Amino acid sequence: EPTRPSNFLRQIIESDLDKGTYASRRWGGSPGDAAHHAQGEPDPAKIRTRFPPEPNGYLHVGHAKSICLNFGLARDYGGVCHLRFDDTNPEKEDQEYVDGIIDAVRWLGFDWAQVGQAAGSAQPFQASDYFDFMYRAAEYLIETGHAYVDEQTPEEMKANRGDFGKPGVDSPFRTRTPAENLARFREMRDGKLPDGAAVLRAKIDMASPNINLRDPAIYRIKHAEHHHTGNKWCIYPMYTFAHPIEDALEQITHSICTLEFEDQRPFYDWLLDRLREGGLISTPQPRQYEFARLNLTYVVTSKRKLKHLVDNGIVSGWDDPRMPTIVGLRRRGYTPEALQLFCERIGVTKDYSWIDYSTLEGCLREDLEHKAHRGMAVLDPVKLVLTNWAEAFGSDAYTEDCTQPALPHSAIAEGQTPPPDRVFKIGKEVWIEREDFEEVPPKGYKRLYPGNVVRLKGGYVIECTGCAKDANGTVTEVHAKVIPGTKSGTPGADSVKAKAAITWVGVQDGVQAEVRLYDRLFTDAQPDAGGKDFLSLLNPGSLKAVTAFVEPSLAAAQPDQKFQFERHGYFVADRADHGVSGKVVFNRVTGLKDSWGK
Ligand code: ATP
Ligand code: MG
Ligand code: MG
Repeated sequence: EPTRPSNFLRQIIESDLDKGTYASRRWGGSPGDAAHHAQGEPDPAKIRTRFPPEPNGYLHVGHAKSICLNFGLARDYGGVCHLRFDDTNPEKEDQEYVDGIIDAVRWLGFDWAQVGQAAGSAQPFQASDYFDFMYRAAEYLIETGHAYVDEQTPEEMKANRGDFGKPGVDSPFRTRTPAENLARFREMRDGKLPDGAAVLRAKIDMASPNINLRDPAIYRIKHAEHHHTGNKWCIYPMYTFAHPIEDALEQITHSICTLEFEDQRPFYDWLLDRLREGGLISTPQPRQYEFARLNLTYVVTSKRKLKHLVDNGIVSGWDDPRMPTIVGLRRRGYTPEALQLFCERIGVTKDYSWIDYSTLEGCLREDLEHKAHRGMAVLDPVKLVLTNWAEAFGSDAYTEDCTQPALPHSAIAEGQTPPPDRVFKIGKEVWIEREDFEEVPPKGYKRLYPGNVVRLKGGYVIECTGCAKDANGTVTEVHAKVIPGTKSGTPGADSVKAKAAITWVGVQDGVQAEVRLYDRLFTDAQPDAGGKDFLSLLNPGSLKAVTAFVEPSLAAAQPDQKFQFERHGYFVADRADHGVSGKVVFNRVTGLKDSWGK
């Protein structure tokens, strides 16, 4: 186990474990109220954290930070992390998103647990299971004078809420008796009132400097079918009311969220204090801690904006390799290990900051450097003809096997068996990169030009003799002579000095491939920032597909398999399209070096 750098959350947890803050907890086996928990066994989990996505879209790289954080803390401190679908909002949620979230969490390398359920098969929690309890909690607040039904119009409510430095104004409905409130709330529940006609509000303090404590709404009317509870409810809890209750029922110890919720913490505590007083929840009650969300340059992470890109066909789907979604990053060729490394590296703080996209790419290179087998691919092919081939080897049809290591020595750990060598054929004709030939070489150019001597990497040394061109002056073929006896790995390999070694693919055994050269989706480093029209900042060159040739070991790739195309960068066989009706399709994951600042 690697030792992980400390952070403020680790310090809090370590201190709680030292003090035994959570040592006396009991766990009823499934979420319930205080009585249910009290009947349970001592909680085998030292801490409980949770990752609570709303199933209204696919997860993105920011969620990956939260997942690695919450699951990582549970793993490191003998706890468990709950996956909880925060499905309290009936309208925007969808089973497709639920499935996508489950896939993403598992793919990232994490699993959730429930006591008594085997790892890998535990059910996630879902907030809608707690609607009955939430309703009961709301009635309890009403009965104890802590909540009232407000029937001001939404406009009046907004105006009377006041503003910073300007106290709010009490609603005329604020003085209703508990009995009146209870009757009216039950009418809301029973569908007697239309959407928007009334809300249930916590009765706290309309003059509080914290606007979130100015009688926040906790239940609203919404005549909408819910994907789990169907038409049972036409009132739904507000997020700020539901979330602390979800945490309490699941006996979460450390409820970790992003800093935007810092101002909500007083209400979180207020609500749980009331419910504890009423004996509705068990103790110790959960505590909320905030950290700075991930802001990554060159991407948007708002689900609404990502959905817009999908719905308007600007990208091919949630899993378009240019998307910062977890499915998009996965299809692009990112590995769970790279994302985990990224989350470790950026750390957890309370400081607002931007992380450069190159940090994410750097983590991927670091992971793939030791894993991705090497191979040669020619992305902008022109044919090279070795004009003296038959003279040297007896026949134009003659070919010879070349071998090269799949991983360089430096990428092989001590004691690890190197993978088998790659084998590919050299013959009279090979594909080379168009940029590797210049009829008139610029100063310092070391590759092919008439009279120059270079090595075909892993093959022979050759001497360039010229080229053929079409009527427009475009080079159609490069010509060279092979120098026999100079093959790589043979005793004569160094007998002739080559100025450079160039990559190539044999015409005989090279395989045609579609290679998708992805670039950043936005031209602006902060397309998500306030006020910017993100759609006007799209990079028109974010996808360029080329017809390339790849060596046979690459063409044999399994979907999702990653490679380093020598000199070009890291590529992955596309999960969706590679292998479909025999097509060979690769995505560029990233170049070999950081090109972001440039
Ligand atoms: P959006 O606002 O785009 O709809 P969200 O933040 O509401 O996204 P949720 O599904 O509610 O998405 O988030 C689940 C969890 O992921 C929350 O606990 C949230 O704090 C965390 N999270 C979301 N975005 C980020 C981010 N950029 N960095 C870190 N954590 C994040
Ligand atoms: Mg949300
Ligand atoms: Mg949000």
